[in-house]
Amino acid sequence: MIFQAAYLSSAKAGLSDGDVHDILRASKRNNVLAGISGMLLLIDQVFFQVLEGERSAIKETLKRIARDRRHNGIIHVLAAERPERNFPDWSMGFEKFIYREAETLASDAAPFDIADIARNPTVSALSGKAPELISFMRSLYTGRDMRGAPALNRPA
Ligand code: FAD
Repeated sequence: MIFQAAYLSSAKAGLSDGDVHDILRASKRNNVLAGISGMLLLIDQVFFQVLEGERSAIKETLKRIARDRRHNGIIHVLAAERPERNFPDWSMGFEKFIYREAETLASDAAPFDIADIARNPTVSALSGKAPELISFMRSLYTGRDMRGAPALNRPA
C-alpha cells in the first residue's frame, strides 16, 4: 500500500515562472530522496498537488510545504492508502493551465471539463473535485485521452 495526499492552495499574488521553477527544482530533488512521487497542477492561481509515498515522508513534506509563503490557504482534500502509485515515474510532474488554454484543451478532454473548472478556479470551487482532478492528472501521465483514464480508487 502507498499513502496518497492531495491539497489545494492559492498561489501568492505575483507568483512568477521563476517561483514555479524553484518550487519544482526543490520538489524533484527532495522527493527523489524521500521516495515521493506526484503531480502539481497550477490552474490560474490555484495549486492542486498530489503526493504519494511513505506516510511519514508525505507528512514531513507537507509540513514544509505548509510553511511556504509562495502559497496560502491550504485545504487538504485527500489522505488515503492506495494499492499503488498513480504517478510512479514522476518525482513531481507539473502542468499549468490558464483559462484560454484550458478552453482549448476541453474540446478533446471530455468528460472532465477542465475549462469549466478554470472559469472559477478558486480553492473552494475546486475542493469537491479531487477525484476528477486526479483522473485528469492520470490522463496527462499516461498520455491517454480522458475517456481512457482509469477511475479513481481502482488499480491503474
Ligand atoms: P531550497 O533549495 O532551500 O530552496 C529552493 C528555492 O526556493 C530557493 O530559491 C529558496 O529561496 C526558495 N524557497 C525555499 N523555501 C521558500 C519559502 N518558504 N518561501 C519562498 N521561497 C522559498 N517541496 C518538496 O520537497 N516537495 C514537494 O513536492 C513540494 N511541493 C511544493 C508545492 C507547492 C505548491 C509549493 C509552494 C512548494 C512546494 N515545495 C515542495 C517546496 C517546499 O515548500 C520547500 O520550499 C522546499 O521543500 C524546501 O526544500 P529545500 O530546503 O531543499 O529548498
